[in-house]
Amino acid sequence: MSESPVPAIATESPDNRASNAPAMAKQDFIRQIVRDDLAGGKHTAIKTRFPPEPNGYLHIGHAKAICLNFGIAGEFGGVCNLRFDDTNPAREDPEYVAAIQDDVRWLGFQWNSLRHASDYFEVYYRAAEKLIRNGKAFVCDLSAEQVREYRGTLTEPGRNSPYRDRSVEENLDLFRRMRAGEFPDGARTVRAKIDMASGNINLRDPALYRIKHVEHQNTGNAWPIYPMYDFAHALGDAIEGITHSLCTLEFEDHRPLYDWCVDNVDLAGNAELLQPLLDKGLPKEAAKPRQIEFSRLNINYTVMSKRKLMALVTEGLVDGWDDPRMPTLQGLRRRGYTPAAMRLFAERVGISKQNSLIDFSVLEGALREDLDAAAPRRMAVIDPVKLVLANLPEGHEETLIFSNHPKDESFGKREIPFSRELWIEREDFAEVPPKGFKRLIPGGEVRLRGAGIVRCDEIIKNDAGEIVELRGWLDPESRPGMAGADRKIKGTIHWVSAQRAVPAEIRLYDRLFSVPDPDDESEGRTYRDHLNPESRRTVQGYVEPAAAAAAPEQSFQFERSGYFVADRRDHNPGKPVFNRSVTLRDTWASKG
Ligand code: ATP
Ligand code: MG
Repeated sequence: MSESPVPAIATESPDNRASNAPAMAKQDFIRQIVRDDLAGGKHTAIKTRFPPEPNGYLHIGHAKAICLNFGIAGEFGGVCNLRFDDTNPAREDPEYVAAIQDDVRWLGFQWNSLRHASDYFEVYYRAAEKLIRNGKAFVCDLSAEQVREYRGTLTEPGRNSPYRDRSVEENLDLFRRMRAGEFPDGARTVRAKIDMASGNINLRDPALYRIKHVEHQNTGNAWPIYPMYDFAHALGDAIEGITHSLCTLEFEDHRPLYDWCVDNVDLAGNAELLQPLLDKGLPKEAAKPRQIEFSRLNINYTVMSKRKLMALVTEGLVDGWDDPRMPTLQGLRRRGYTPAAMRLFAERVGISKQNSLIDFSVLEGALREDLDAAAPRRMAVIDPVKLVLANLPEGHEETLIFSNHPKDESFGKREIPFSRELWIEREDFAEVPPKGFKRLIPGGEVRLRGAGIVRCDEIIKNDAGEIVELRGWLDPESRPGMAGADRKIKGTIHWVSAQRAVPAEIRLYDRLFSVPDPDDESEGRTYRDHLNPESRRTVQGYVEPAAAAAAPEQSFQFERSGYFVADRRDHNPGKPVFNRSVTLRDTWASKG
C-alpha cells in the first residue's frame, strides 16, 4: 500500500471543471476551523476521510460528504482516505465496495490510502482488552432485551448491569473465549464502563463488542466477534491520524463516546496496540481526531434512505441501482449528471449545522449550468412528423455547416445533412393554432433552424384523420447567406434530414416521485404510492448523424428539447440510445 501523500483532487481528470477552479476560499464553519487550526499551528497538515459502510450504493447525500472531505483536503494541501466501515458483515458486499470506489473516482477525487475498518480488527481487539485491564470495560451477560430495560429513558437514569463488577481476570478470560468462538450470537457483549446515570444515553455503558458468527468479506471466519460502530469508528479515525473527522448531525450525541474511546484507549501513547498495523504494512500514525458535525443533505421529490433505495431495486420498481431515475451516484451518472455538476451542486448547497430541505430544482439547475457550457449542440426530433419541401427537386440533398456551441467557438463546427424530406417535431405544427402559437401552421411560415424559411401548403392525413405528412415550400431567397435569410419571422424550429438522420431510442426521464415528500406515510401510504407513473417514457425519434456517432456518456443539448446523454450501457453508434438528463427549463416550478 503506497503511503506517499496523494492529492485529494485528481487534477488530470478531464472532467475537473468545478474542482480545478482555484479555491475561491469557501467560508463554511468547518473550513474556518481547519483554517484556524492550520494558522494556529495545531496541525501542520490536515487529514480527512470518507467512511462509507459498503451496504449499498452511494447516493447524492454521500456526494455532499465526499465533496466536503476530499474538497477540504484538496483545498488545504492535505489528504483524504477512503475507509470502508465494514464492521457489520451481515449487510455488506464486495459489489458495493467496487461501486463506491468507482463513484469516488468519477466525482474527480483520489484517496490517499484505501482502508477497511477490518484492517484494524486486531487493533480494536487489543484496545478492548486494554480497557478491560484498566477496569474501563466489562463482559456483560444481559440479553439485548435486558440491556434495554436496564438502560433507562431520557428522563430516568439506567441501572448498573449485575455483571459490571466482574474482576479483570474474569472479564479477560470471557473476552478471550468470546474471541475463540465459545459462545453463541448475542450471549455476551463487551461494554464500556462509563455512567449509567448519564444524561447522554450513548454513555450508559455502551456495547463495544458483540458476538456474531458471520463470515466477513475480508476476514472470512477469523472473527466471531465484531466491534460496534462507535468504538470502531473513533479508533479507526485515530489510527489513521485523521485530524478532522467530519460526520452528519445525528452523531453529535455520540461525540462524547467517540472522545471517550479515543482518550481511554490512547492509541498514540501505546505502541503495542498499534503493532498489528506494522504487521499489515500500515504506518503507525495515531493521533487524536476532532469530530465535527454538519447537516445531512435532504432533497425533495426523492428518497435517500438506503433501505428504501434497496427496496426500489429488489421490488423491481426501478431498473436496478443505476436506473437513471435513482438518486444513487450510479443512477445520476447514467442519467447524464456530470462530476462537475455534482460538485457545483455540493458547493451551492454549502455546509452548515442547519437542517434543511433542498429543492430538486437546485440539482437540475446545477446540471443545466454545467451542460450549457460543456455540452455540444445537436438536433434531434423526438416525436417526428414528415415535412416535404415540395419545391426542391426529388431526392435533393445538401450539407450545411453548424456551430457546435453558440457561445464557445472552441467547440468547432460540424456538417449536418439537409434534404427535401425532413423530420420535424409533431408539436411544432398546429392545424388549429392556439393563441400565441409561433410555429408552423397551415399557410404560415416558420424558420427551419439554419436552413431557410418554409411555408406549409398541404396537410396529408391517414384514414384515421392523423397527420402523416406536411408539404411545404422552402423560400429559395431565405437560404443561408442569401439576402432574404434575415427576413423577420416569428418562430424557429429544429429538424433532421429524413434520409440521413439515424433512428434512435430516446428515454424521456422525469422525477421518480410525483410529490415533494415521498417519505410522507400519512393515511397508510408509503413511498411506493408516490411513484411518478410518467417518470420514464421511451420513444423512437431521429438524431442527426453527428449525435448518433457519440461515445457512451457523451452529453449533448438537443436544441429546443433538453440535455441528453448517450446511454452508458446501451448506446452504440449503430443503434443510438439517449437518456434525457434534464429539460431546458424547469417544468416543475408551477406544479410544486
Ligand atoms: P447507514 O449508516 O444507515 O447505512 P448512511 O447513509 O449513514 O447509512 P454511510 O455509508 O454510513 O451511510 O455514510 C457514509 C458517510 O456519508 C457518513 O459519514 C455519513 O455521515 C455521510 N452521509 C450519508 N448520508 C448523507 C447525507 N444525506 N448528507 C450528507 N452526508 C451523508
Ligand atoms: Mg452510517
